[in-house]
Amino acid sequence: MTQPDERWDIIVIGGGATGLGIALDGVTRGYKTLLLEQSDFAKATSSRSTKLVHGGVRYMARGDFFLVMEALHERGLMLKNAPHLTRDQEFIVPVYNVWDAFKYTVGLKLYDLLAGRLSMGRSHFVSRGKTLTLLSQLRPEGLIGGIVYHDGQFDDSRMVIALVKSCVDRGGTVLNYVKVTGLLKDEHGKINGVKAKEMVLGNEINIRAGLVVNATGVFADAISKLDNPEAKPTLKPSQGVHIVIDKSFLPGNLAIMIPKTDDGRVLFAIPWHNEVIVGTTDTPVDTISLEPVALESEISFILQTAGKYMVKPPRREDILSVFAGLRPLAADPGDPHSTREISRRHKIILSPSGLLTVIGGKWTTYRRMAQETIDKAIAAGFLVKRKCITDDFPLVSFVTGDSSNRMQIYGDRWFEIAAMMQANPDLGIPIHPALPYTKAEMIWICRNEMPLNIEDVLARRTRALFLNARASSEMAGEVAVLMAKELDNDLKWQKDQVESYNQLVKNYL
Ligand SMILES: Cc1cc2nc3c(=O)[nH]c(=O)nc-3n(C[C@H](O)[C@H](O)[C@H](O)COP(=O)(O)OP(=O)(O)OC[C@H]3O[C@@H](n4cnc5c(N)ncnc54)[C@H](O)[C@@H]3O)c2cc1C
Repeated sequence: MTQPDERWDIIVIGGGATGLGIALDGVTRGYKTLLLEQSDFAKATSSRSTKLVHGGVRYMARGDFFLVMEALHERGLMLKNAPHLTRDQEFIVPVYNVWDAFKYTVGLKLYDLLAGRLSMGRSHFVSRGKTLTLLSQLRPEGLIGGIVYHDGQFDDSRMVIALVKSCVDRGGTVLNYVKVTGLLKDEHGKINGVKAKEMVLGNEINIRAGLVVNATGVFADAISKLDNPEAKPTLKPSQGVHIVIDKSFLPGNLAIMIPKTDDGRVLFAIPWHNEVIVGTTDTPVDTISLEPVALESEISFILQTAGKYMVKPPRREDILSVFAGLRPLAADPGDPHSTREISRRHKIILSPSGLLTVIGGKWTTYRRMAQETIDKAIAAGFLVKRKCITDDFPLVSFVTGDSSNRMQIYGDRWFEIAAMMQANPDLGIPIHPALPYTKAEMIWICRNEMPLNIEDVLARRTRALFLNARASSEMAGEVAVLMAKELDNDLKWQKDQVESYNQLVKNYL
């Protein structure tokens, strides 16, 4: 994977939004950069978000204006640099009394103002009648009107894949299924590399670098312990759950934002890839897992809350998929129990032995976090000074055009898939009637996007698992056959893959 005597300027541990943002910042400034991901890219939190590129309306209620302004600026840059993976989403906040109508109208005007020249459109109050016309499935009882505002929406794991490709395009090396198991130090106790294990073959290798960055999200404390077994916890993980339901529950293009649910959180119902995502929850957790599972109480909470607002309340059996993710919140020493009040702002910590750890933050601010991390490494003398260029750096496969073209998630190379379908129309037929994905896409993904197993393809290169878990399981057999042919695997591999995928799917049902 790398030569034994090879030395890197930067090794980034973690292939989520934060790690890939840092790797891209590194390669685009001209540093020799290697990124190692223990599982698949975006396996953890970065594929399990609410899929919003946003400033975070709710942080304004806490007076966290700097955080909101920073995130709104980054929202603008993300939409500019990856228009094929992001889009403008119109929301309505339904209001049920005059005070809320006033409060949210003023609040969202301020939100527009904080976005400055990167504003996505002006918010405005709409009457009760108009609100019900725009949202035909909203319950009318007690409604006095709504406030329309704009935010960004995206496909989180496809954005990670675009970051992977952009790093590689600029000469970076980005590896999945390579786990960092130790940190190497020189005779002065300073970190000068990592010990890494190839998860498929089991080989272990020492890799040297001038700078090691810990961008492992909720796993950051585990890496810090490799540096210093006495290191204090810096994270307070919190679980967030979403359910996916049929588009008929929220027809049209508008999303709903409920600013204050019974537990004080925001609840969103957002159209996504022709279905609807509803969530989220905020449950402090002690166990950190790559595959967190939704609690029954979280699912009930979402169903009950959504049911209060929707004419046709979603039931348990209407859920197409349920997914859970862990927020890597930077712990607040003054408030160790609550996660709701912990700031979403990130922290960058340099240990005495030189491990640079990034914690907290949001998907939306990944680029800014990366810039600050590399700037901090320069200031600390790890790297020669070079300017950050990612604020004006279109991601690889950048394409503008028809955002209703589903194939745009593959960027400007989608026409290669179209050409495969044209040459062999059988490859263009969806593998499962409930999902749009075709054989041609599976083959193209195997050839171009580094998947190693069915889950990589069905969960993160396509979003089949998240959109309709049962249907994804029903197409697993056929996907295994296609993948085995492309990746040169045998019948036993196919059988094992289908079995382990079906086991995984249970967590999403
Ligand atoms: C429910 C929920 C909803 C959210 N919604 C939004 C939203 O709508 N908009 C928004 O802006 N933000 C949102 N966020 C926040 C956002 O998703 C996270 O801030 C972001 O994804 C964190 O990315 P990360 O790279 O730090 O962590 P991760 O994505 O968890 O990546 C860390 C990676 O490190 C790897 N790793 C760990 N240990 C090792 C090791 N030893 N060796 C190699 N690799 C290792 C892991 O496998 C993992 O892939 C949401 C978060 C949650 C939980």
